[in-house]
Amino acid sequence: MIPLRPNIKHMAGYVPGFQPRDEQRWIKLNTNENPYPPSPQVREAILAELGEDGACLRQYPDPPSAAARAEAAHLYGFDPSWVILANGSDEVLNNLIRAFADAGEEIAYVHPSYSYYATLAEIQGARVRTFALGEGWELLDFPERYAGKLFFLTNPNAPLGFSYPLEFIEELAGRVDGMLVVDEAYADFAEENALALVKKHENVVVTRTLSKSYALAGMRLGLAVARPEVIAALDKIRDHYNLDRLAQAAALAALRDQEYFRAAVEKIRATRDWFSTELRVIDYSVIPSSGNYVFAAPPDRNGKRVYEALFARRILVRYFSDPALSHGLRISIGTREEMEALLNALREIG
Ligand SMILES: *Cc1c(COP(=O)(O)O)cnc(C)c1O
Repeated sequence: MIPLRPNIKHMAGYVPGFQPRDEQRWIKLNTNENPYPPSPQVREAILAELGEDGACLRQYPDPPSAAARAEAAHLYGFDPSWVILANGSDEVLNNLIRAFADAGEEIAYVHPSYSYYATLAEIQGARVRTFALGEGWELLDFPERYAGKLFFLTNPNAPLGFSYPLEFIEELAGRVDGMLVVDEAYADFAEENALALVKKHENVVVTRTLSKSYALAGMRLGLAVARPEVIAALDKIRDHYNLDRLAQAAALAALRDQEYFRAAVEKIRATRDWFSTELRVIDYSVIPSSGNYVFAAPPDRNGKRVYEALFARRILVRYFSDPALSHGLRISIGTREEMEALLNALREIG
C-alpha cells in the first residue's frame, strides 16, 4: 500500500479545458486565451535575456522577481511591499489557502465560479462551502457574518461574465471575518476593479493574471496585491524561485508596454460587445459580460447539443455539465474573423 494522505487519494483533481494537439486546425474559444500575441516587447525581452548562447540559464533567477514586482506595484499605485508575483495566479491562490486555512477549517466561494479553489482546498484538507446565486446574482444564504478563513469572489464572475459593483464587494469585506480574495483574472476587460479596497480594508486581497489580458497564458504569470503582512507570509510559502528568468523578463516587458496592452484589450471588448448583439439576433440569451468571454444559451437551452455540433466543425467552446451551467456555453472572445465563423456555424446548427 502506498501511504497517500486520504484526501489526496480520494480527490478527483482539476480538469483544465481541452488543448488540442493540432491547434492550427481548430478555432479555439474554450480557455479564454487572448487571440492576439503578447506585446512584441515581450519577445524582445525574452531573447535579450537569453542572449546568444543562453548562458543566463546557468544561474538561478532573482528570488523576489524584484524588477517585475516593482513595475506591477508602480502600475497599480502601490509600494512593492504590497505586491507579489506568481507562477500563474493559480500559484498565489494555492498559497493563500496554505497561509490562511488549516486542515479542517473552512473556505468558501460562489457557485458557479472558479472551481479550482475547491481542488486547492481539498489538497490542504480544508472544508469547502459554496454560495449559490439568486436571479439577480445575489449570494443565497450568505450569513450576516461569514466566519470561514477565506472567501473567494471571482469578479468578473467566470464563467458567467457579470460583475459586482464595488459597493457590494466593500459590503462583503465588512461581513467576512477571514480574508476576502477578489479573483480579478478578468478585471482588465471590466469597467471597475477592487484595488482601492485593498488600501481601505485589511482583509481584502486582489489576484490578477497575465494569462488573459496580456496574452501570456503559456508563460505562467500572475500576481496578488495585499497588505505587506499578507505579502510577507506569501513570500515565505512560495517556491523561492517561482518565476524563471524568462518569465521575469516577459512580465517586466508586458507590464511596461501599456499602450499595446490597452489597444489589445479594447479590440477584444469591442468584439465582445458586437458578438453579444449578434448572438441575441439569433435568439441566444446572453449575459452582459465584463470579461473576454460570454456565457450564452441557445433557444432550446441545450448547451451540450450545440457544443457537440461545434466540435464536429472543429470549433471549441466550453460546455459545463454542471446543472447550473448545462443550458449554455462559455465562449471566449477571439478575433472578429473567428467570431464570424462561429456565428455562421451557429446559424447552420440552429
Ligand atoms: C484563468 C483564471 C485563473 C488562473 O490564471 P493563471 O494565471 O493562468 O493561473 C484564475 N482565476 C480565474 C477565475 C481564471 O479564469
